[in-house]
Parts: sequence; structure tokens; C-alpha cells
Amino acid sequence: MTAPDGQPLDVLVVGAGPTGLAAALIAHDHGAHVRIVDRRPDAPRFSRAFLVQPRTLEVLRPHGVTDELLALGDSNPQVHLHLRRRCVPVDVGEIRLPDTAFPNFLLVRQADVEAVLRRALRGRGVEVEWETQCESFRAVDGVVCDVTHQGIRRHIAARFLVGCDGSTSTVRATAGISWDGSVYPHEILLADIELEGDVQTGVTHVAVHRDGLLFLLPLGETARWRVLTAQPPNRAQAQTDRQHLQKILDRADVHARITRIAWSERVRVQHRVASRYRCGPVFLAGDAAHAFSPAGGQGMNTGIQDSADLGWKLAFAARLRPDGDAALLRSYAEERRRAAQQVLLLTHVLFWAEAGRGRVPSLLRGAFSSTGAPLVPVLLRRRRLVAHAVRVLAQLRRHYRRGPLSVEGSGDSGVAAPAGERIPDEEVAVDGGRQRLHDLIATPAVHVLLHRDTQWGMPPAPDGRLRVHRIRSWSGTGIVIVRPDGYVGFRSGSDTQGAAEWLELVGASPARST
Ligand SMILES: Cc1cc2nc3c(=O)[nH]c(=O)nc-3n(C[C@H](O)[C@H](O)[C@H](O)COP(=O)(O)OP(=O)(O)OC[C@H]3O[C@@H](n4cnc5c(N)ncnc54)[C@H](O)[C@@H]3O)c2cc1C
Repeated sequence: MTAPDGQPLDVLVVGAGPTGLAAALIAHDHGAHVRIVDRRPDAPRFSRAFLVQPRTLEVLRPHGVTDELLALGDSNPQVHLHLRRRCVPVDVGEIRLPDTAFPNFLLVRQADVEAVLRRALRGRGVEVEWETQCESFRAVDGVVCDVTHQGIRRHIAARFLVGCDGSTSTVRATAGISWDGSVYPHEILLADIELEGDVQTGVTHVAVHRDGLLFLLPLGETARWRVLTAQPPNRAQAQTDRQHLQKILDRADVHARITRIAWSERVRVQHRVASRYRCGPVFLAGDAAHAFSPAGGQGMNTGIQDSADLGWKLAFAARLRPDGDAALLRSYAEERRRAAQQVLLLTHVLFWAEAGRGRVPSLLRGAFSSTGAPLVPVLLRRRRLVAHAVRVLAQLRRHYRRGPLSVEGSGDSGVAAPAGERIPDEEVAVDGGRQRLHDLIATPAVHVLLHRDTQWGMPPAPDGRLRVHRIRSWSGTGIVIVRPDGYVGFRSGSDTQGAAEWLELVGASPARST
């Protein structure tokens, strides 16, 4: 059970997509020895996702990758909504959410997200082991994974294995976990194209028409534009010809002529959630655990957020006795499977509206495209409504209030976010002056936030796993413990005993420091 540096291996990650890379990075930053393998020969592949949500940026921030992501993407995307002959500009950048350091969606290629995560891992001495395919595993004193590399079979032993191997997951199949749900009767057509005509460059175009929505993103990888739209399945044709794609653009009232198709692909999409997320020391995350329609841009984001939930728990559990990690590890499946079910429902409804072939969604889209233009600015002026919708899409409303790690101690802490909710960003006063709360907790650790007058005898953990901050602007007494993924784990008035028990529960007690 060793890592390349001879240390015992805590976590083996199978799959170097965005979920696996994030899982490896986060577990590493919390002190785990990790390896990550992928069956692909190397990194390059075409992007599918283009939207990174504020919550995803929040969970990645302690791992030092968000500046690079922001530099590669567009956090002030301009969208032109095409409704028949009318074009309605929508300034997405205007939707500035108040209680987060990332007030907007980020438009960025999945390939760039993966490259940033790989670079971060490389900077920590962890390289993806390409051309290494997981064949199966056995749970023996941890887990032993059988892999093949260039035709040679090998075994990798680890305390935990995380299957981030996508929707056709070998890990899920080997664990005998059923893949509940079904395939949509649509394909998503993706193509990189060059256009001539009346299409403003540098802007995302969304055309609404009776047949469905068509997205034209200024983020092509082999040509200027990436087009994305749901279509009936076309088994005869894996590639898309120019004439066919031109017809789709014309029907969507996009007034431009395709001059070149550089690349195209059709992908089937599914709606499924794995029946279990865990089988002993083996966990599923990302598309291996759930598959959604692309509507609302949730798949990659949910996968990275799975990893933010699981990464620190595995690292902390690796330091606990095998029988001492029960609640910590159980909480992953309880929190994230429920989250996936909620996302599934959301993306199902959005996909019905976006691409449903029945009479009702077609009529709704038809009516919106012919009469919706004057309504859009009116709707956008309803700030609270827009903010609510954006927060749902951005996964900022996710909570684990009923989870086994969400504990309300005795007394009222006076802090608005209860145990299980994400701690909102705000300006606070600390010893060094005024600071944003999310800046203060942007390091990979459990953060104890003490109100001004709280008595606290526990020392910070020497390994940095536990950090203690006194918030001068929070009057009276109160203790709030924030998990490494930004959710409140424990909240109370002055229940230091309860706080100590919570830290013990998750393996963050200073007494456990190595
Ligand atoms: C058209 C389209 C648009 C989308 N748009 C968005 C969007 O805007 N926002 C969003 O959040 N999501 C979006 N998604 C979803 C997103 O692309 C996926 O959810 C995301 O790629 C999942 O990442 P993952 O790491 O879990 O799995 P994957 O990306 O599938 O990665 C799995 C990895 O595991 C490797 N692997 C598989 N089997 C093995 C094995 N046996 N051994 C070793 N390695 C193995 C594979 O080679 C691969 O590298 C979109 C999807 C589609 C189809």
C-alpha cells in the first residue's frame, strides 16, 4: 500500500476527468497520499462542459486554483437571446450574488479546468498515470485494485479507492452497484464551426425556437464557435454534415452561413443516479455516480463538489482507526446522493423545457420565441426572483442540515447559517483588521470561528488541520465550526464540550494531530 514516494497510499483515484483530478487534489491538500490513474493515453480531449458555477469556485478556492481559472475564463459573459427575428442582450455579469467571492458564473472550457487541476497536482508532485486502466478491485485490508498498463497487469493497494471513471464506470460495475435511471431519447450535437454573417463575436448566442434551444459559444477548440443543441438520435450518422447543421441554424433563426465544420460529435445523455455511493472502502463520485442532461450545466460542477465533500473526509479518515471513521464516511453518500437526486430533478425539468419533443414544451418554446422578447427585460428587473433562480442553478442553496455531521450544540451562536448550511461570505473584523470571511477560511482546514467573548482552551492543530479564528465583529459568545468544504458542521452558544466532540467525530481534534 505505497505511494511512489514509499509512503502508505491512502487514496487511489480512478479517472482523471474533472472529478478525479479534484478528488486527488483535495485529498492531497488535506494530507492524504494519493495516486491517480486514467486509461486514456494522455490528457487532450474535447470539452463538453463550459460553465463553472460560483459554488464550484468556492470549494476549489482553498486549493489555489481559482485565480488561474478566472484568468482562463469569462466571468462577465454576454449573452444574446435570439427570439425569432429579435435579439435581446442579457448582461449575465449584472447578476452579482452578494454573499460569495464569486458573484458570477464562469464561462470556461472543461479542458482548461482539467489542465488547471492537473497543473496544481503536478506542482504537488502528483502526476496522472495515463494508460492505466482499472480492471477490477478486491476489498482486502483496504482495497487492492487490478490495473493494466501497456498490457501488463499490476496491483495497487490503498486504504480507499474513488471511482471517478465516468458514466461507464468499471468501479461501479465491479462493486455491483446498480445504475438506476434511463437514457434520454435525444442526442446532443456538438460541433466546432466557422461562421459568416450577422453573429456578434465574443458573445454567447442562445436561440429559442419551437424545436429546442441552440447554443453558440465563442469557445470552440478547433474553430471559433462551438455549437450545441439537442437532436433526435441519428444512428446512421456519427458526424454532422454542413448542410444538415446549416438547416438547424436556419430553423433557429441564426442568420449566418457555416463556412467550415472543424469537428463534430453526437452524444447520448442519460438521467441516472447510482443506487449506492459506497461499497466498503470504495466510493463513487462524478459521472460514475450520477448522469444528468447538460441543461443547466450541472454535471462537472456536481462532480467537483462531490470531490470537495469526499476529499477531506478520506484524508481525515485515513488518520482514524478503521472503526472510528463511520459517521465521517457515511456522511458522504448521505449528503451527495441526495444532492444528485435534487440536481437530477432540476436538470430533468430544464431539459424538458429546453429540448422536450412533446406538444407542451414545443408550444411553450414557440410562444416564448414569438412573444417573449419584451418580457425578458421585465423579468430580469425582478432582482429577487433572478437571484433566487441563479442561486439554485449555482448550487449555493445546497445544504446538509439533516446529515450526520451537522450538529447544533447548546445555546444560540447568533450566526445565521445553521449546521449543515454553507457559511455565507461577509466582512468581519479580526485581530489584523477587517477581512472577508471567505478569505479568512481559504485554506484547506477545519475552521473554528469564535465570537468575541468565547472561552476556548483547545490549541490549534500543529499539522494545520484545525485553525481557530476570533471574529471581533461577532459579539457575545458563540462557536461556529466550518468544514473544509465551507459548510457549517457545528454551531452553538458556548458548548466547548460539544465542539470538542464534533472535532473528534471528524478526526480534526488537535489531540489527533500527527
Ligand atoms: C454536451 C454536454 C455538455 C455539458 N455541459 C456541462 C456544463 O456546462 N457544466 C457542467 O458542469 N457539466 C456539463 N456536462 C457534463 C460534464 O461534461 C460531465 O459531468 C463531466 O465530464 C464529468 O466528469 P467526471 O470526471 O466525473 O467524468 P469523465 O469526464 O467522464 O471522466 C472519467 C475519466 O475516467 C477515465 N476512465 C474511465 N474508465 C476507466 C478505467 N476503467 N480505468 C481508468 N480510467 C478510466 C476516462 O478516461 C476519463 O478520463 C456536459 C455534458 C455534455 C455531454
